[in-house]
Amino acid sequence: MAEKPIILVIDDEEAMRDACSLILVKDGFRAETAENGKVGLEKARDLKPALALIDLKMPGLSGFEVLERIKNIDPGIIPIVITGYATVESAVEAMKKGAYDFLPKPFTPDELRIIIRRALERRKLALEAESLRHEKKVMEENFITMVSHQLRSPLVAIQQYFEVILAGMVGHVEDTQKDMILRARERLESLLHLINDWLDMARISRGQIVDKLKPIALEKLLDKQVEFMKPLAQESGVKLELRPMKKTALILADEQSLEQVFSNLISNAIKYNKPEGSVVITVREEDGTLVADVIDTGIGISREHLPLVFDQFYRVSRGEDQKTKGTGLGLAIAKKIVEAHNGSIQVASEPGQGSTFSVRLPKAEPEEK
Ligand code: ATP
Ligand code: MG
Repeated sequence: MAEKPIILVIDDEEAMRDACSLILVKDGFRAETAENGKVGLEKARDLKPALALIDLKMPGLSGFEVLERIKNIDPGIIPIVITGYATVESAVEAMKKGAYDFLPKPFTPDELRIIIRRALERRKLALEAESLRHEKKVMEENFITMVSHQLRSPLVAIQQYFEVILAGMVGHVEDTQKDMILRARERLESLLHLINDWLDMARISRGQIVDKLKPIALEKLLDKQVEFMKPLAQESGVKLELRPMKKTALILADEQSLEQVFSNLISNAIKYNKPEGSVVITVREEDGTLVADVIDTGIGISREHLPLVFDQFYRVSRGEDQKTKGTGLGLAIAKKIVEAHNGSIQVASEPGQGSTFSVRLPKAEPEEK
């Protein structure tokens, strides 16, 4: 059986304490009493009551003082004040100091019951919310590990089985069977891609990035990404070019994370381009920041989609271009990374003409005058 909720009555009037106790015990609560604020606080500390009924006017510690201190003992205790002189001001004052409700003297047993019931309901909700918050935190901590082990590992295993079957190592595979396994493998690859992106998304936190900041030359990083993307560009018939500045400038960055940003921006610029199109990357200085623009001559993004492209899982639906694969997490990840660098990312686009994604990053050294 659940334990009876403890209700503590702090009042210097004995008749009041007795009357309240009587009603509370009759209603199935455990009633505890204290004749002054000091004893009340001690009992609150020892008994951890669910509710405390506090008389405002007492010799020694006043009800207001008890109200303030009881919060520090246990914020879960719901305080209700008993006001002998039911002025609006003292009630308001008490509510401001954290009282949940007030009971003007004299009150009937039913008035007491209503307030107690409401306060207990409130406490129940507060306790539930607290336990949910705690649960959520634990879940978040476990979730990343769970996804990578319980979700990703079996998929990788399935992928390996498919490879073995496709390689003909367990017997001859008919063309129709092969066709299906290839399709299954493709779906599996998309799923793994999604899980990896999602894990990236969940793992990126400002703290982690800030810890790894080092001065790096932005153009060197861009050059590396451009070289890396050349084969994809060639395959798609898109010209890819980096136009560096005259002098190199440094930024404070976590190299690996920024590589991921530009790898996605450049691959998008190629993926959503047109045959014979081009991708140009420029670097410029603006108000003590470095701005890298990834400019493409691709299909562009219409105005209604533009504000949404940085949202998680958002992909512009375009009838004719459903072929391009992706999870819609690339730009969300890029935004999160850039913002963790105290930078910003923006897009301007003209449908049918092309898009420009601009990444703004603070420079490493202060501007020399
Ligand atoms: P992922 O990068 O996760 O593999 P994705 O490329 O679909 O998938 P994002 O990089 O987040 O996802 O891009 C979101 C959407 O924005 C894309 O689906 C595409 O429709 C649109 N988009 C992004 N870059 C461009 C671009 N340079 N030109 C036109 N549309 C773009
Ligand atoms: Mg992308």
